[in-house]
Amino acid sequence: MRWSLDTLYTSFDSEEFREDLKRCDEYIKNIKEWVKNNLSTKDDPVEKIEEFIKIQNEFYSLFSKLSAYTELTLSVEAKNEKALRTSDILYGKIPELTEPTSTFKKWVGSLEDIDNIIEASELLKEHRFYLKEIVRRSKYLLSDKEEVIIAKMKNTGSNAWSKLQNLLSSTLLVDITIDGEEKHLPLPVVRNMAYDKNPEVRKSAYYAELKAYEKIEESSAACLNGIKGEVITISKLRGYNSVLEKTLMDSRMDKETLDAMLSAMRESLPYFHRYYRKKAEILGHKNGLPFYDLFAPVGEADMRFTFEEARDFIVNSFKGFSKRLSDYVKNAFDKRWIDAEPREGKRGGAFCYNLHPIKESRILSNFTGSFNDVSTLAHELGHGYHGACLVNESFLNSDYPMPLAETASIFNETIIKNAALKEAGKEEALTILESDISSSGQVIVDIYSRFLFESELFRRREEGALSVNELKEMMLNAQKEAYGDGLDHNYLHPYMWINKPHYYYAEANFYNFPYAFGLLFAKGLYAEYLKRGEEFVESYDNLLAATGKNSIADVAAMMNIDVHSIDFWRSSLKVIEEDIEKFISLT
Ligand SMILES: [Zn+2]
Repeated sequence: MRWSLDTLYTSFDSEEFREDLKRCDEYIKNIKEWVKNNLSTKDDPVEKIEEFIKIQNEFYSLFSKLSAYTELTLSVEAKNEKALRTSDILYGKIPELTEPTSTFKKWVGSLEDIDNIIEASELLKEHRFYLKEIVRRSKYLLSDKEEVIIAKMKNTGSNAWSKLQNLLSSTLLVDITIDGEEKHLPLPVVRNMAYDKNPEVRKSAYYAELKAYEKIEESSAACLNGIKGEVITISKLRGYNSVLEKTLMDSRMDKETLDAMLSAMRESLPYFHRYYRKKAEILGHKNGLPFYDLFAPVGEADMRFTFEEARDFIVNSFKGFSKRLSDYVKNAFDKRWIDAEPREGKRGGAFCYNLHPIKESRILSNFTGSFNDVSTLAHELGHGYHGACLVNESFLNSDYPMPLAETASIFNETIIKNAALKEAGKEEALTILESDISSSGQVIVDIYSRFLFESELFRRREEGALSVNELKEMMLNAQKEAYGDGLDHNYLHPYMWINKPHYYYAEANFYNFPYAFGLLFAKGLYAEYLKRGEEFVESYDNLLAATGKNSIADVAAMMNIDVHSIDFWRSSLKVIEEDIEKFISLT
């Protein structure tokens, strides 16, 4: 199945697309003039803020439609020239708004009595969090001129580096010999072989993958150094103590929460090491698990799904939780919101793109029929459902922070796993349990290694650019620390910094701990669901709808969860630890 983008636009040359691109310029012109004409005095703050919020909501709805069409096209056709050109044009427009937006923010930041101003209007009350955030963060804004320069330079800096890395990795072909035949396959296809039943296939896929990265290692390192260097420079200019501090603010999360979560994760690592060693033993390895067997299927059960079977399974499993969720998913399949299969020129992995202005989403996956692929689909549909819960919020109130971004997705995975366990025989149950622990291991142990790597990367990048060898070495060290003796240290993965696109997003640094937050928060929520049953469902939808206009701690508090308490994190981790115990006793 391939997605249809027709409800966005039918082509880059269509009347609608060109018309909207033109309207975009008009909006920008109007916004600039409006700021010039209105913000020289502090008179009528209520009316002025109302007006600016309205224009912004309208403009961003329009702009996000154009950029969604462009980015979605590029994600399945990395070399589409029209999309590449349009992407340049659109990115070029963002800096135009930098000056008016930063003038507005500073103006709001300078208003005395912001609380009373907000109280005077329904629209402002609705955007209370958005406005309070502006006030809180206005001190990190630079002069209008500096803001404009930074925004413009990003297009030839970090944005260009990101695009280059995306192009390099999505067009990289891996040379691999299968059944005596030499083949050149897209990277995601070879990465998927890590789940293959045949140990020889997994092993040769690993070597072929590592070998292929040599072709792009120097260029990827240049991209990474360019992006992280820029991030450090800008974060210092703005007066942040560290990039992590900025990420936490962007995440609406406090350090206390991160520390509590990381401490609980560290405490839990020995459980995962035991699991990896057990898995190694089952697969016949003596010194812990080699990286290429991390995802090896365990047990005889070979669950294969056609795409249609995957759809039916997901839709039916969600029915037991809520009709709204299952209807949403059915609709996503029926209306062709999903681009399913891997192919050359299409990017790897999976993602969901929520299209707030048209109340839809699009999902990209590289589906090859494993249970893991089904679970990934359910995961991405969770992001889509999250978007669906936000369609009645304004555009500005629909923007949720990274850690909460993984709530609905992982919640969905949990539903799918439990549904599959219910129908499973003993052998299948073992396979499902193992695959679930394996993916939790990715989110706790591997994510912890990525957090370590990125912390070290920022520390050392400050002193200068890092070589390919240094990056590989740092990655190996991070993996050794996180995986301990669970992995065989002779077979690690020194190139994970090329494989994960997250390192190349200049606007989202440390895009790792949000996954751990998401997993453990979702586990905590699922435990609530088990306790409260049906009445949970409505508060779950309300929670998702509130994610764009609250701090993380406040969102969690809606369900009586205290994210500052290490005990909350421990209790979520305990669910996984118990699964590990079960797995070890079953084998
Ligand atoms: Zn996700």
